[in-house]
Amino acid sequence: MFSLIASLFKKKKTFFTTQGKVFDLQEIYRQVNDEYFDAKLNLSITWSGHPGRGAQYKRRLGSFDPKARLIKIHRLLDNASIPGYFINFIVYHEMLHCAYPPKKGKKGRRLIHHAVFKKHEKQFREYHLAQEWIKNNRHLFLG
Ligand SMILES: [Zn+2]
Repeated sequence: MFSLIASLFKKKKTFFTTQGKVFDLQEIYRQVNDEYFDAKLNLSITWSGHPGRGAQYKRRLGSFDPKARLIKIHRLLDNASIPGYFINFIVYHEMLHCAYPPKKGKKGRRLIHHAVFKKHEKQFREYHLAQEWIKNNRHLFLG
């Protein structure tokens, strides 16, 4: 009983922060939704994690929780050295997870980044720039 009350309380207290030091996620989400999804997706977005470095594992820059319909973007990206198109691309990628959910492949394997997903991912205007940028800046995201 106590844990039920605690979790209800926790749920009620949840709020999302979208305004970062450099980027406003709500604004990015709105732009990407307008440009690529006819403003049809209805999701929440929030920053997650801590801006500092030092962890020994590779961080996930973004994630999508289909139950909560919530996109989380790592605070590491709230940095003036991150190009706008790159954070837009990460938000776009997570939105695609909602628009093109995982499929069952052969032998019941769950395909997350399946062919249709990838086809749409490549339609991002600065797709090649974003790929090039991450290739040259991987060190920023490693502990
Ligand atoms: Zn993904």
